[in-house]
Amino acid sequence: MIPGQFGYHRPDAVEAAVRLLADLGEDARAIAGGHSLIPMMKLRLAEPEHLVDLGGIAQLRGIRRDGNVIVIGAMTTQHDVIASDLLADTVPILRETALMIADPQVRYCGTIGGNVANGDPGNDMPAVMMTLGASYTLTGPDGVRTVAARDFYQGAYFTALEPGEIVTAISIPVPPDGHGSAYEKLKRKVGDYATAAAAVVLTMQGGTVATCAIGLTNLAETPLLAEEAAAIVIGSRLDKATLAKAADAARAIMEPASDARGPAEYRIHVGGIMVVRALERAAAAAK
Ligand code: FAD
Repeated sequence: MIPGQFGYHRPDAVEAAVRLLADLGEDARAIAGGHSLIPMMKLRLAEPEHLVDLGGIAQLRGIRRDGNVIVIGAMTTQHDVIASDLLADTVPILRETALMIADPQVRYCGTIGGNVANGDPGNDMPAVMMTLGASYTLTGPDGVRTVAARDFYQGAYFTALEPGEIVTAISIPVPPDGHGSAYEKLKRKVGDYATAAAAVVLTMQGGTVATCAIGLTNLAETPLLAEEAAAIVIGSRLDKATLAKAADAARAIMEPASDARGPAEYRIHVGGIMVVRALERAAAAAK
């Protein structure tokens, strides 16, 4: 299938993109890497009359450290994330996660901004951003505002983005030196979306867990933060009984769909296993 007809606009500044989106109204959509939107247009699940391509806006690309925060421009590709030494040194879970998204072809075009803004429960970066305590900078007709990733996702394909707003950057507090992290993703085959996935970022002190955050991908209509599970492991040495309790607490908030990736019961079961594996691997990586 090929997409229907649409008008194409390629502004070279954020202000121009926002103005175009505001002027063109509901019939216009921003396009970044196009690797979620174009397939949806081919299937007629999205039929925008105008596409506003963010690809010509140089200021939306790049990864930098600003004090204790990493700032990633929305049009930075998954490939750029994988190639970044700064991210490998400071927030390694981003590289690990990006490497599990689709395949190199998709990662050369797909952007981090598109991944977090899309609102598809199967996207991997949103739960990781929630786990890291990241926030998104949004620019729209009424100016610039910041929304925490943890407050951004409201339902499947339904986010805090207001009409005409775009994500311009993602800010991530640098996790403490010696932290451990892991992203465990069960998928049917290489390149697939998650059947169930869990992100963990933690710190250890004298063999016990000092701080911990746990995020879940594709286990509900939105990415989830498993707060009770994280609270259960804090102060523990991640013994078997605690891990089992944490997995059950995480399972209690999962509400995945039954679909081609398996019935809901199966996805909840393996979701708990992803949590345990991510906790164990993150603890082993912590110093
Ligand atoms: P686009 O497709 O251009 O846009 C997606 C949506 O986000 C659109 O609604 C668009 O309007 C909006 N948008 C884009 N950028 C912005 C912005 N800056 N501000 C506001 N709105 C914006 N993803 C995964 O996470 N995990 C996977 O395993 C995975 N597997 C895939 C396998 C295949 C075969 C394919 C084709 C895609 C897969 N994807 C997967 C999706 C891929 O990561 C997409 O690139 C990503 O979801 C969207 O990024 P994009 O830059 O392509 O955005």
